[in-house]
Amino acid sequence: MDYSRLAKVLSSNGCSLTRAREQVFGALVDKEGLTMNELIDELSGKVDRVSVYRNVTLFEKLGILQRISNGFKYKVELSDNFSSHHHHLSCSQCGRVINIKADQLEGAIKQLGKDHGFVISGHQVEIRGSCAQCVHEQDKEVG
Ligand SMILES: [Zn+2]
Ligand SMILES: [Zn+2]
Repeated sequence: MDYSRLAKVLSSNGCSLTRAREQVFGALVDKEGLTMNELIDELSGKVDRVSVYRNVTLFEKLGILQRISNGFKYKVELSDNFSSHHHHLSCSQCGRVINIKADQLEGAIKQLGKDHGFVISGHQVEIRGSCAQCVHEQDKEVG
């Protein structure tokens, strides 16, 4: 895996690329959002819990990763600088987060910026609701 961009962001903020940081970053590459517990599980035996939390906090501060909030819970994923831009459908029943592309939305957001003379540096869109699987389960219960 190529850690050069990660190393660059870290070094420009006076931090070095440690083994633990490599591992935390690596666990998030090309993944949908992970909860802290999932991330800790993923890294068990490689990075201890305290280091995972500490580095997630650091990565968030440096814009390397972002939180996806879902009610009072959250997942973490790499920011747009390290993954391709997308949006989320968050299921408020099972906590699943589905990544989606929304080209029409991108155009509309760009236009909104233009209309207000606003220079947009980034955006996040969270769509909340129930995923197909949860809707299906509910239908079964009712039906
Ligand atoms: Zn669901
Ligand atoms: Zn977007």
